[in-house]
Amino acid sequence: MGEFDLIKRFFVREQGQTGVVLGIGDDCAVLAPTPGMQWLVSTDMLVEGRHFLSTVAPERLGHKALAVNLSDLAACGATPRAFTLALALPRADASWLTGFSKGLFALADAHGIHLVGGDTTQGPLNISITVMGEAPAGAALLRSGAKPGDDVYVSGSLGDARLALEVFRGSISLPGEQFAQVRAAMECPQPRVALGQALRGVASSAADVSDGLIGDLGHILQRSAVGASLEVDLLPCSAVLAAQPLALKRECGLAGGDDYELVFTAAPAQRAAVQGAAEQSATPVIRIGRIEAAAGLRLLDAEGQVLSHQFSSFDHFKS
Ligand code: ADP
Ligand code: MG
Repeated sequence: MGEFDLIKRFFVREQGQTGVVLGIGDDCAVLAPTPGMQWLVSTDMLVEGRHFLSTVAPERLGHKALAVNLSDLAACGATPRAFTLALALPRADASWLTGFSKGLFALADAHGIHLVGGDTTQGPLNISITVMGEAPAGAALLRSGAKPGDDVYVSGSLGDARLALEVFRGSISLPGEQFAQVRAAMECPQPRVALGQALRGVASSAADVSDGLIGDLGHILQRSAVGASLEVDLLPCSAVLAAQPLALKRECGLAGGDDYELVFTAAPAQRAAVQGAAEQSATPVIRIGRIEAAAGLRLLDAEGQVLSHQFSSFDHFKS
C-alpha cells in the first residue's frame, strides 16, 4: 500500500461538510469561516513512549490523539470545525490503520469536526493533530481573565489517568475491574467540549487539565496575575481513587496529568449560571477554591490548615 492509497483508504471521507469548501486532495484545504466568528487553532503531538505506551489499542490511540486536541478547543469555549493530521508511521499496517481511523472518526463525528488534510510519512510512530474551532468574536475563554474573589471550579474527576500510569509503572496494583476503569480514563479521555461552549460569557478564565491541576491552574494564576487557595479534599475523584491512601489520592488529584477536565474561574454572581452550564452540558462541575490577590497557590485541608506541598506538574524538560 503506497502513501496515496493509504490516505485514500483510511482518511478520505465524503466531501460537502459544513464550512469545508475543499477537503483532502489539493495542496491546501479551503475553509469558510462563519460570519462574526473568530478562528481558534491549537496543535498537540503524541509521541510513542512519551505520551502513550506501545500497549495501547490503535482505536483508543486514534480517539486520544483527537481528544487531547479537542480538549484545548473546549478550554477556550470553541466550537470544533476542522482538523489536520500529520502522521509518521513505522510501516503501512492495515489492521493498525483500521483501528486508529475508527477511533479517530468516531470522536470526530461525535463533535462534528472534519479531517481536511495532513501529511503522511514513514518514521517512528508520531501523531500530530491541529484543530480549528470557532467562537463569537471576543468570546473565547482565556487563561488571563481570573479576578480576586472569583470561585475556582473543576469538571468531572481528577487523577484516574495518573493512577493507571502508576499501575503500568508497577508502583501499585489494582483489581482487574478497577484497573480497567482507570485505564479507560487514561486511554479514552472525553474532552469537555459542550461545557466549554456553555461557559462562554459565564467563566472569567479557563484551561484544560492536561499536565496536572496545580500546573494548569498555575497557568491561569500567572496569566491573570493573581493567586488562589484550593480546598484539596474537595477535589472530585472516582471511587477507585477515593479508596487509595490519602497521600497518593492527593498526588494523583493535584499533579496527575492526562485528565482533560476543565479548570475555570467565575465571579460568585455567576454561581447559578455555572450550574446551568453544567446541567446544559450534562457535565459534573464542583467549586474547589477561590482566587485571591496574593500571588501563589495555597492548598488547604478540610480544617482550613495550609498544607505544605512539593507537588509539581509534568514538564517534558525537567527530570
Ligand atoms: P503535499 O505534497 O502538498 O504535502 P501530500 O501529497 O502530502 O500533499 O498529500 C496529499 C493530500 O492528502 C493533501 O490534501 C493532504 O492534506 C492530504 N493528506 C496527507 N496525509 C494525510 C493524513 N494523514 N490525513 C489526512 N489528509 C492527509
Ligand atoms: Mg506532503
